[in-house]
Amino acid sequence: MTMNAQGRPTAPGTIESNELATISGDRGLDHEEALIFEIGRDGHCGVDLPTVQISENRLAGMRRKAPIGLPGLSEPEVVRHYVRLSRMNYAIDSGLYPLGSCTMKHNPRLNEKVARFPGFGDLHPLAPQSTTQGALELISELMKWLTTLTGMPAVAMSPKAGAHGELCGLLAIRAAIQARGEKRNRILVPESAHGTNPATAAFAGFVIDEVKGTADGRVDMVELEGKLGPDVAAIMLTNPNTCGLFERDIRHMADATHKAGAYFYCDGANFNAIAGRVRPGDLGIDAMHINLHKTFSTPHGGGGPGAGPVVLSAALAPFAPLPLLVHDDKGFRLIEDREAVPDGAQPFGRMCAFHGQMGMFTRALSYMLSHGRDGVRQASEDAVLSANYILASLKDVMSAPFGDGPCMHEALFDDHFLDGTGVTTLDFAKAMIDEGYHPMTMYFPLVVHGAMLIEPTESESKDSLDRYIHVLRTMALEAKEKKTERFTGAPHLAPRRRLDETAAARKPILRWRKKELPQAAE
Ligand SMILES: *Cc1c(COP(=O)(O)O)cnc(C)c1O
Repeated sequence: MTMNAQGRPTAPGTIESNELATISGDRGLDHEEALIFEIGRDGHCGVDLPTVQISENRLAGMRRKAPIGLPGLSEPEVVRHYVRLSRMNYAIDSGLYPLGSCTMKHNPRLNEKVARFPGFGDLHPLAPQSTTQGALELISELMKWLTTLTGMPAVAMSPKAGAHGELCGLLAIRAAIQARGEKRNRILVPESAHGTNPATAAFAGFVIDEVKGTADGRVDMVELEGKLGPDVAAIMLTNPNTCGLFERDIRHMADATHKAGAYFYCDGANFNAIAGRVRPGDLGIDAMHINLHKTFSTPHGGGGPGAGPVVLSAALAPFAPLPLLVHDDKGFRLIEDREAVPDGAQPFGRMCAFHGQMGMFTRALSYMLSHGRDGVRQASEDAVLSANYILASLKDVMSAPFGDGPCMHEALFDDHFLDGTGVTTLDFAKAMIDEGYHPMTMYFPLVVHGAMLIEPTESESKDSLDRYIHVLRTMALEAKEKKTERFTGAPHLAPRRRLDETAAARKPILRWRKKELPQAAE
């Protein structure tokens, strides 16, 4: 087996020499780490255990017959193993994370500290409400921020992610339609929608009807109006949309939707582009989820933690799910029962067992209070500025399908600039790993060919953006000069070469077994 400089076995296909000069000076993720079971040795142990004398009589035949199978390693070996593993993980704390439609921004440590205050962090959801007034007040304060920033009268706090918020919004819409004694089962979804939109609509039992986009990356109003009818429950629009563009006709869209008796659902995951600048309530929106974990920071990805509160218009507010948070002369109170709701409220049910993601609420309010309203607006403006800086700096060497005008918080490129080079979007994105960067979002949105979507966020400095732009420019120029070596089969410098992503999704191996040991570990 081959060893790398650290004396660790290298993966098959890893290149050993410095064949490829890097642009950034980084050498990718230069780690190789076997599983802890593969590096452990029988008979080794990290602690000195006393010899215990127990008579066979007392064990009564229960003595273990075979070794327990724990990996034998010393304490420093265990520490190194996990530190090396942690360094294989690309994170916002190790470098720019350009994924579009994800908003990977810096998470201020202050928010983490506040979320860990024992009064919040150690609170049990079943603690008597008389003892949790501070936590309930925190939720109430966050609700005020969300309704003020969005210009909407109500907010349901319990949804635990963006997609969960979409479901909450659609269930409120369904309840409102039922309360009117109507049946409407069609939902109009633009083709540039985030995948969760049609998935949520289908999950909630609606029929999805796709609306085409225009050549400038926005919703085709003629087609939309043609599709509106008495069986349409709602339209589901993302604004700013997944091409990173603001839907200019949004007021018109809202009017046409309402005229047809339908509701206007807005996917607000991109609220970080407009918070403090635009109030969705002023645009005629009836329901919108806010990804607290994108707009108001928090480490996310890998399934959590997230929170997707849904703001609701006056028409949908009565149908908000339980629990309802009220404040009266007795203090703050969560209403958990349908029988106890205030006059006019007709909750459609509930989204989860308790009141929502307390840890996220604490982080989000801490973010808001530390930034202030002007600071939240500044963050949005800087996020848009960063994205436009990327777009303007790269559109002469990469191809930007909607690059004639400015973008919002993310810059979209297609693969036109790679025509005839033999390099694909996948090659280009994977080659970024060799430069020490996480790839951008690839092949999404589907409305452009070979999409590359980059969202730098407001938390990158100009220096950091300049370094990133330099790497992308150099790579684009090399691709055009047909210097394909860097791209074909990239990444070359990471511990693994290109993986078979199809097999990983279709035939996942979910459990390690000794017999699957690779040869290198004998
Ligand atoms: C992230 C995202 C979602 C889904 O949010 P989750 O919290 O991951 O469920 C929906 N729409 C858009 C546009 C998004 O970016």
